[in-house]
Amino acid sequence: MTDSLYTEEHQIFRDAFRKFVAKEITPNVEQWEADRAVPRDLWLKMGEQGYLCPWLPEQYGGLGLGFEYSVIINEELIRGDGFGVGVPLHSDVATPYVHSYATPEMKERWLPGCATGEVITSIGLTEPNAGSDLAAIRTTARRDGDSYVLNGQKTFITNGYFADLVVVAAKTDPKAGHRGVSLILVDKDAPGFHRGRRLEKMGYHMQDTAELFFEDCRVPASHLLGAEGAGFKYMMEKLQRERLEVCIKCQVNAEEALKEGLNYAKVREAFGRPIGNFQYTAFRLAEMATDVELGRVFLDHLIRRHIEGNDITQQVSMAKYWLGEMVNRVAYQALQIHGGYGYMEEYRICRISRDVRSLSIFAGTSEIMKLIVSRNLGLTPQ
Ligand SMILES: Cc1cc2nc3c(=O)[nH]c(=O)nc-3n(C[C@H](O)[C@H](O)[C@H](O)COP(=O)(O)OP(=O)(O)OC[C@H]3O[C@@H](n4cnc5c(N)ncnc54)[C@H](O)[C@@H]3O)c2cc1C
Repeated sequence: MTDSLYTEEHQIFRDAFRKFVAKEITPNVEQWEADRAVPRDLWLKMGEQGYLCPWLPEQYGGLGLGFEYSVIINEELIRGDGFGVGVPLHSDVATPYVHSYATPEMKERWLPGCATGEVITSIGLTEPNAGSDLAAIRTTARRDGDSYVLNGQKTFITNGYFADLVVVAAKTDPKAGHRGVSLILVDKDAPGFHRGRRLEKMGYHMQDTAELFFEDCRVPASHLLGAEGAGFKYMMEKLQRERLEVCIKCQVNAEEALKEGLNYAKVREAFGRPIGNFQYTAFRLAEMATDVELGRVFLDHLIRRHIEGNDITQQVSMAKYWLGEMVNRVAYQALQIHGGYGYMEEYRICRISRDVRSLSIFAGTSEIMKLIVSRNLGLTPQ
């Protein structure tokens, strides 16, 4: 990011958080990957240091800081191999729904815990039969006196297994298409709420991605976020930031993959010279470095535009697909440069390569991003 956005205070914060990651996260990554879980203790430690929801106003236990601090946390987590720590989704995707749309009582009840790590949040949109086509979700929420009664299921939910509070998209009017979608808070103790499997994934292993089930799940009517039927509108408002958050993950992973490929190319020798001195490898690295540089310029431009309060829907959709595919190109090539060692767990590029495959899928696939971009160009792709 350019100097104009980062002050000395940001740098001090970055240095402190980098040290925290080096001490509390990086040495544990191998174990957490094997456990398929990050311990709650890490969340509490991050909360204690102000690293959860740093943007939250002080009245809710936050520090009232700008989005730049969330960017720093997201970037440094990935640099320290904590890609699977679900903090950015908690801090910058799920909790903002509570802050923006919950009643004052709900905010008082939940937000302080979001800042301390006692409350982990997640967001449940995707269902077995509806991912890209969110208007087709089947989970229903029926009003019954002072309650909503939810029935249905969600899948692929990040932080789903350990979440204390889930923002659930459900149909309050099943006949009204996307206008019938509402967002409702479901807490882990709500009767009728069950977690299913912790899903076994290709990568991103320490992340507790899970299925969620609602069987006559009853929550107080005050758990409705904002207005009934406005859920889709709220999601569209918030998805910009979620996609930007994923763009950051793409870019930093690409930077790390390039670093691994370059370092290896300088030390590994074949046919009497470092492999980086074969023109083919050198040119490949030159192309990777160019991709990464373009990505950084694009991303920083969007971060700045977002902080300034601009609508970046079109550009962030472009970035989400381009960066999601770029990081996969770069990681593939970086692994290839490692030869057989790249396929071995003890090499960092091995984990990076499998983790980044998710980035062109979640928070909207590349194809859905291209759909948004082309519609904004005045086209009607079918
Ligand atoms: C690791 C991981 C974490 C996730 N975390 C969450 C989470 O926290 N919360 C949550 O709600 N969801 C989460 N998801 C779900 C994710 O958002 C969905 O997987 C994604 O939106 C795609 O939905 P789908 O899997 O149902 O695929 P589908 O929608 O069935 O799509 C299948 C394929 O068809 C393509 N396609 C669909 N429609 C079109 C079209 N109109 N034009 C062209 N191509 C199209 C898609 O691009 C894709 O390639 C997560 C997924 C993963 C893998």
